[in-house]
Amino acid sequence: MQLYNTLSAKERAALIEEAGQDRLTISFYKYAHIGNPVIFRNHLFIHWNEMDVLGRIYVAHEGINAQLSVPAGNFGRFKDFLDSITFLENVRLNIAIEQDNMSFLKLKVKVRHKILADGLNDATFDVTNKGVHVNAEKFNKLIEDPDTVLVDMRNHYESEIGHFKNAITPDVDTFRDSLDIIEKDLQDHKEDKKLVMYCTGGIRCEKASAYYKHKGFRQVYQLEGGIIEYARQVEQLKLENKFLGKNFVFDHRRGERISDDIISQCHQCGEPCDDHVNCANEACHLLFIQCKKCAEKMNDCCSDHCKEIHALPYEEQKALRKGKVVSNKIFKKGRSEVLKFKKQSV
Ligand SMILES: [Zn+2]
Ligand SMILES: [Zn+2]
Repeated sequence: MQLYNTLSAKERAALIEEAGQDRLTISFYKYAHIGNPVIFRNHLFIHWNEMDVLGRIYVAHEGINAQLSVPAGNFGRFKDFLDSITFLENVRLNIAIEQDNMSFLKLKVKVRHKILADGLNDATFDVTNKGVHVNAEKFNKLIEDPDTVLVDMRNHYESEIGHFKNAITPDVDTFRDSLDIIEKDLQDHKEDKKLVMYCTGGIRCEKASAYYKHKGFRQVYQLEGGIIEYARQVEQLKLENKFLGKNFVFDHRRGERISDDIISQCHQCGEPCDDHVNCANEACHLLFIQCKKCAEKMNDCCSDHCKEIHALPYEEQKALRKGKVVSNKIFKKGRSEVLKFKKQSV
């Protein structure tokens, strides 16, 4: 029985190319009680591997959070399989607008402590007591209401390239930080304002809305299915699109264009740009915004220092990296002194 990947990303890319079949990029999540996440993980891996599903999936006692790519021809089987799992029957699937056959090149199903790294102690509040879910149409009306405060529950590098008009976009690196900042900002309006929130696919708002209700906010709303589902409904129902720019996504595409507006700048020259890249120096891997001109000039690197290292023979680069801890967690997400046009955290 095969429980892990046997192909490298390169081999996989070649196979996908060769098959010439369209793939769908899909995400979904569900909070549920899972007794044995390891058994559940293996069950998913065996079936999905067989259907040629790829992606990054987190499984925990609290549920499942999945980002994946499914061959379009296997979608029916994939859906039937989900429906065969009681708590995933008719689960809402967010299907990406911009399809990319290479969005994922491996199938990684990981057992985690939590499906969303929220930094919260769950015992303090009831996650199921969440906010009111609203669809795109209701959301559009709600955010025109003068009594509404609209909050973006994502991190700085996500809202930088795209967000809803008039939204509060906390300059934070983590979900946990934004919870506190928003609560403090809105301290005096827990009863009179409507707190409306959104995130990429809805999962962060499930937690955040329950958290704010627990903290005494009376009217809490959340965009159902997040920006991904909003964009789909706007297109399908021909609604007014109130989202500006790109939706940051956590796969190889990095962003999905929702409107033609470019609201951010290249971090190196300041020209309008909303393309995220990772610094080509593997020891750095900084996520930042870089225009095509700067990419050429800097050899896809974030700084002269990285450019020099990147130019060295690979073996020498490897020797330099040896013994050094590479942190690609919080601090590598688009914050660095070398980025001239990136607002630094205050
Ligand atoms: Zn530039
Ligand atoms: Zn770098």
